[in-house]
Amino acid sequence: MATNPKIVLPDIPNLRKLEVYKSHGGYEQFKKILSWTQDEVINEVKKSNLRGRGGACFPTGLKWSFMPKGNDIVKYLAVNGDESEPGSFKDRQIFEYNPHQLIEGILIANYAMGNKAGYIYIRGEYHKWVDMMQEAVDEAYAAGLVGPKMKDTWGSDFITDIYVHKGAGAYICGEETSLMNSIEGDRAYPRYKPPFPAVRGLWGQPTTINNVETIATVPAILKMGAENFAKLGAPGHPGTLLYGVSGHVNKPGVYELETGITLRSLIYDVCGGVPGNKKIKAVIPGGSSMPALNGDELDVCMDEDSLKVLGTHIGTAGVMVMDEDTDLVQVTLRIARFYHHESCGQCTPCREGNGWLEKVLRRMLKNEATSKDLDLLISVCNNIEGNTICALGDAAAWAVRGFVAKFRHEFEQRVNDSVSYQALNVVHGKKATANNLIWTN
Ligand code: SF4
Repeated sequence: MATNPKIVLPDIPNLRKLEVYKSHGGYEQFKKILSWTQDEVINEVKKSNLRGRGGACFPTGLKWSFMPKGNDIVKYLAVNGDESEPGSFKDRQIFEYNPHQLIEGILIANYAMGNKAGYIYIRGEYHKWVDMMQEAVDEAYAAGLVGPKMKDTWGSDFITDIYVHKGAGAYICGEETSLMNSIEGDRAYPRYKPPFPAVRGLWGQPTTINNVETIATVPAILKMGAENFAKLGAPGHPGTLLYGVSGHVNKPGVYELETGITLRSLIYDVCGGVPGNKKIKAVIPGGSSMPALNGDELDVCMDEDSLKVLGTHIGTAGVMVMDEDTDLVQVTLRIARFYHHESCGQCTPCREGNGWLEKVLRRMLKNEATSKDLDLLISVCNNIEGNTICALGDAAAWAVRGFVAKFRHEFEQRVNDSVSYQALNVVHGKKATANNLIWTN
């Protein structure tokens, strides 16, 4: 566990340019592994215990080992830069400041799995970052680092392509199977699993899907050695993370720090504490779908295993801080409305259930709730979770149930206020109307 935060990587001006990246040892790790076997590369990544940085924390080397062997099979890598989870804004830092490390990571991954091509799928609204990433890919092609000229540059028979693919601008495009449909030009509907992508992915061929940060970490692992990487940060979840901190902190931003730093240290030592020295009421540790922590839980270490003990997850390490004045019923409505809006509509529990969550929360904020609404809210969450094709339904249920579990008194207060308000209106012969809806639409 790291108790003293430190910025792990120095800020190198113009690192996004190929010549600067190369002058700092860029592409040397890909050159090095060209003399290794594919299994040697996969085993090195396994040994590092790198876990996916996109939210699920799945071991990366193990995922790569699921791909069928043999360079005669057409296989693909899809790099997920959809980054549409509210509170997550780390991958765009890589597109902007260190795109060649991502390209080098893709080359290494494609070599290890024998992939024909890698697709960098970037969120549809990220116009600027799509252009920046494309510029770096073009530089790499022009220099013969990627594509048909690879043999001349590297002296190896291994050739692979890299494509930048602009997403369709919906949250669901970040779900791995809908991401593949979107790349293929279809509507981004999640697919049933199995078959899993390593068996049947892009265009029916074996495909691995990894997050941007995960792939960009691979060259650093090979440079320092898997054993050294595995010693960084928390033992079960080693390495560094790009923590994206937003909300009520004095210095919001993206910070690269070891895993295992305490949440308190991240907020107070790194991000300068809370404006006005207010108390912290709640913190979402890893993007909007992760259950919130309360202000008494700030000493938790920021790694998957430690957060799991408190009933939440590291997710994308998108940390959202809320001070003592925050109305958490409003926050919950905001999140529920997002998932309702972003549901693709294929499964009834998600499509209808998310509508119900939004409706019940709105009733609470409009003094129109009934005494049964809190139970109804939890019941709807329980009926969504585990009954849908993809994890969007689960995500919505976790977020809402997490807030109710930790801050039930705030929801009860809203219900009690509603009941009293309605009783008062009955006494005065008036119809209950909204008098305190602060946030609409
Ligand atoms: Fe679509 Fe929601 Fe079902 Fe996912 S869970 S497939 S987003 S309806």
